[in-house]
Amino acid sequence: MIDSHSHLFEEEFNNDLDDCIKRCKENNVNKIILVGFSYDTNRLAQKLSKEYDIFYPTAGIHPDEADNNYLEKIKELKDFVNNNKVYAIGECGIDYHYTKENEEIQKIIFKAQIELSIEKNLPLIIHMRDATKDTYDILKEYKGKLKGVMHCYSGSLEMAYEFIKLGFHISLGGPVTFKNAKEPKEVAKNIPLDKLLIETDCPFLAPTPYRGKRNESSYVKLVAEEIANLRGISFHELEQATEKNTKELFNLWI
Ligand SMILES: [Zn+2]
Repeated sequence: MIDSHSHLFEEEFNNDLDDCIKRCKENNVNKIILVGFSYDTNRLAQKLSKEYDIFYPTAGIHPDEADNNYLEKIKELKDFVNNNKVYAIGECGIDYHYTKENEEIQKIIFKAQIELSIEKNLPLIIHMRDATKDTYDILKEYKGKLKGVMHCYSGSLEMAYEFIKLGFHISLGGPVTFKNAKEPKEVAKNIPLDKLLIETDCPFLAPTPYRGKRNESSYVKLVAEEIANLRGISFHELEQATEKNTKELFNLWI
């Protein structure tokens, strides 16, 4: 299994990262995409990936990072990507959950990263929160050139199909295991198996029965079990399919 979205460089893991990785191996989680989202975390992802061969690092600028230094941040990210091995651009996207005041800057930073991903032929990792329409409208401008993943997707099944048409995979995390998670369960049941990825987004969004506690990459197994049950297929089939999809998307054959 592959955890297609984790932040194991966060300080929540400072004391037991080795144990977390051990638990991954015990649960057959053999690869982890380590997702950067800022100046510091892009560098932490590189550093840890050199220390542990389970990690595959990415680099991006999260919409929460949208401030007046945006031109500098974009330039800095381009330099970083040109000088370091990264497997994807992101996470990046649009997030209006806390504020819409920096909307224009969010859009500029997002478009710069879409263009960078096209130039480098790398997949995009998309973060979208309370901003489905704007995220979709921006991506649509680049139709035909895109590949990537809608990470921890929580939108409707109908929109999931629209993002798939734009070239995206759909990744589901802990919320699909929550009892009241109607839409993620609908998406899990219905989207084509070859478009599905699984993730934790750890340390956030731990699946049942760890909801509210620290999440970690080995729990991706619980996400896989839930989706296999929802689809009525074996765990093995789900595991094989999502692993293949993730390897192809992020080019993890090496
Ligand atoms: Zn994340």
